[in-house]
Amino acid sequence: MSKQLPSALLIVGLMVLATLFPVASLQAQSGSQQVSITLEPGDELRQGRTALLRVQGPDIVQAQATFLGTMIQLHPTNVGDWVGFLAISMDATPGESTLDVFTWTTLEQPPTITSRPVTVLYGEFDSQDIEISYSLEPLLDPELNAENFDRIERVHQRTTPERMFTSFVQPIPGPVISAFGGFRVYNTDQLTGRHTGVDYRAVVGTPVGAASDGRVVFAEHLPIHGNHVIIDHGWGILTGYSHLSEIMVVPGQLVRQGEIIGLVGNTGRVQGPHLHWEMAVNGYWIDAAQFLTLNIPLPAPE
Ligand SMILES: [Zn+2]
Repeated sequence: MSKQLPSALLIVGLMVLATLFPVASLQAQSGSQQVSITLEPGDELRQGRTALLRVQGPDIVQAQATFLGTMIQLHPTNVGDWVGFLAISMDATPGESTLDVFTWTTLEQPPTITSRPVTVLYGEFDSQDIEISYSLEPLLDPELNAENFDRIERVHQRTTPERMFTSFVQPIPGPVISAFGGFRVYNTDQLTGRHTGVDYRAVVGTPVGAASDGRVVFAEHLPIHGNHVIIDHGWGILTGYSHLSEIMVVPGQLVRQGEIIGLVGNTGRVQGPHLHWEMAVNGYWIDAAQFLTLNIPLPAPE
């Protein structure tokens, strides 16, 4: 019992300090003065976009974050900080929410929790009326669409802890003809949906390169996406390539950035040949064109 007296005094002392210096003492209690959080491009993020989350602090041996119920694993880099990707669902509710970062200096002790507000803004997505030809109208069946998208979303749930990517590049040079996230109405209200990728203009047969190093985890025909390839790049980052005229890889195959994985085509539900390029981070479809603007750090040395 006698040991409790100094602790009680310490707590009273801290409470007095908290009254006198509220910010400083709260930081002392959580240890958060030692942990800094940086978000690139910033603390305000549009729906469907991704930020690079950097955490710095002495002697961190493990780090994680949570935002809107999603766990974000953080990984050490070659410059001594910990990084991960904060991906915002295109359906996330706009407003301010709390990003919690958990850091451990020893796994025997509970983590330090450092929090900061992050604001989700409306995505500013466009609205698109799309006219699908009569012969492809069966592809507007809602059940068929749900099955097609469910199959892809199940693949997107995988998280490979190993990092295979270093950087990401556009799979083909072509110009963007349709941006990510658009609200789509097909054949005057027969079906509504969201645009889950970025469309690039290209002619049939244009070679499609892997956006980064990774492992092929899906390579088959789907009714809406047509001939579709998904590459797992590690850390919960996957890229998808749709409507291909030809698939040139098989599941399980390791590919390098720029390696030809297939050819542009017009398979599946299309108005004409193009490449539909998708990206998923931590299970969310995100804007791949915006992801390309992030300054991705190099991996930690082995
Ligand atoms: Zn598309």
